[in-house]
Amino acid sequence: PARPPGLALPAALPQGALTEAEAKRLVAAFGIPVTREALATTAGDAVAAAEAIGFPVAMKGVSRAVVHKSDLGLVKLNLADADAVRAAHAALLAAPVPLEGVLVQEMARGAAELILGARHEPGLGPFVLVGSGGIWVEVLRDVQLAPAPLRPEDARAMLRRLAIWPVLAGARGRPALDTEAAAEALVRLSWLAADLGERLVELDLNPILLRAAGEGCIAVDGRATLA
Ligand code: ADP
Ligand code: MG
Repeated sequence: PARPPGLALPAALPQGALTEAEAKRLVAAFGIPVTREALATTAGDAVAAAEAIGFPVAMKGVSRAVVHKSDLGLVKLNLADADAVRAAHAALLAAPVPLEGVLVQEMARGAAELILGARHEPGLGPFVLVGSGGIWVEVLRDVQLAPAPLRPEDARAMLRRLAIWPVLAGARGRPALDTEAAAEALVRLSWLAADLGERLVELDLNPILLRAAGEGCIAVDGRATLA
């Protein structure tokens, strides 16, 4: 496959379990769109970050030990003003897990949620997956898997094989979503997986939100483990 131009691993790679922000920075280096965001500690810092990003914002508790943040009340969405950010900050710090800080990020909009993932399978090499995403991914089990790196046509074919494809393509009078942007993100993730090689234990972007055709996609959550 032809490599998209300008993709290079950062000189210093993080190791072990990455935070959401670290995982998103890694994929952003490969040209995958991610939410604008900033780490904060105090409520005052969180408000300043929210004002710089622009309301409404999302706020999340940062803990490398947590896999499903929303199950522990660590995801606060649609915070409209400084008071809402202060209240969310207090609620996050009251959660039953020690936090490294809070992550303040733009509220992204999209009409569908996909999961994009990558793994190194010992003995087999790098793989990528795409599927119906969000919090029901384990329930829906609508995923396609392929060896990395991918050509754009491979990524498009994986998307078309998903059960959710008719919805993405514009079922029942709904507008078609930006499946080209999703295919492009999947290709870029596949090159990241190929470049990381055995250092990649696993990486998930769940979800990536898809907007209308031509309006792109954006990763709002990320997780990764590097060896
Ligand atoms: P979890 O660790 O539980 O997967 P997420 O960060 O994925 O936490 O947040 C849970 C859900 O909240 C997401 O599936 C998505 O629907 C929504 N969400 C999270 N962050 C944002 C954001 N920045 N903009 C819009 N929706 C978001
Ligand atoms: Mg998630």
